[in-house]
Amino acid sequence: MKLLDGKICAESLVAGIAKRVAGYVDSGLRKPHMTVILVGEHAPSESYVKSKITSCDSAGFESALLRFPENISESDLLAKIAEINADHATDGLIVQLPVPKHINPQNIINAIDPLKDIDGFHPTNFGRMTLGQKAFRPATAYGICKLLQFYEIPVKGKHCVVIGRSNIVGKPISIMLSNDFEVGNATVTLAHIETPRDLLLDETRRADIVVVAVGIPGFVKEDMVKDGVVMIDVGINRLENGKLVGDVDFERVSTKCSWITPVPGGVGRMTVAALMINTLMAYQNNFDLV
Ligand code: NAD
Repeated sequence: MKLLDGKICAESLVAGIAKRVAGYVDSGLRKPHMTVILVGEHAPSESYVKSKITSCDSAGFESALLRFPENISESDLLAKIAEINADHATDGLIVQLPVPKHINPQNIINAIDPLKDIDGFHPTNFGRMTLGQKAFRPATAYGICKLLQFYEIPVKGKHCVVIGRSNIVGKPISIMLSNDFEVGNATVTLAHIETPRDLLLDETRRADIVVVAVGIPGFVKEDMVKDGVVMIDVGINRLENGKLVGDVDFERVSTKCSWITPVPGGVGRMTVAALMINTLMAYQNNFDLV
């Protein structure tokens, strides 16, 4: 078993971005700029936002964290987004999810200028990605593809099973792995909560690559996969004892894997790295550099 180390891969990608940014800055351009909006207090969001800001520093980006109280109205938040959309000094905008219950997250996503939508959640980007057109790709799914590419894991022609169909992970990664992309051209099965258990097992047991994003600790057990499987664990679950674990029973399942992502230090790190790639792309678009 070998580790698909998201930390090593992310650091390498971010170092490459920093080098390009230094070149742009040397030529007289400003630095790329990411703005993150955080509404209310939510411990996991605090930690995700912190890692995004830290990664901006490593990439040579400017960043701004805008905090708003839990009780901000949806209309006030939409007005703030409109303001940032119009600000030419911001290349990429993220509204950290989840937002409080009185705010409809889809309204927020839809309000972000697709040209600044570095999370890749706006229907324009999602649609363009699905059609195989140039787009900001949803960051976690894009990060997984970058990780597979970094470790030269063959994907073309492989049988992939994705468990979980969320708009932010399961759905986009199932589309990206099946699209005619540089990391893609796989045959993909997308399983979800309504997939009968025996059908799920039939699929996972013959899969070459399994991507799991269900949010259930230890969901994937060793009897669910074949020897040599490549296992991508997207889950981030905090146990009562404070330990962070994925959706895979790592200790047992890893003995059967050819490659597996650790949690932490796997997909989470790649999500942030993919955001940096998307921000650089937004900046390059702004300055007609590509
Ligand atoms: P979600 O929480 O919105 O939905 C869970 C998905 O799992 C649903 O599509 C559901 O159909 C499926 N599911 C639930 N039980 C199932 C079962 N028994 N069999 C088959 N499918 C089942 O999904 P999400 O937002 O993608 O989050 C999933 C996990 O990934 C969470 O732990 C989350 O914290 C983590 N996550 C990690 C990152 C990262 O950067 N590593 C990014 C996003 C989410």
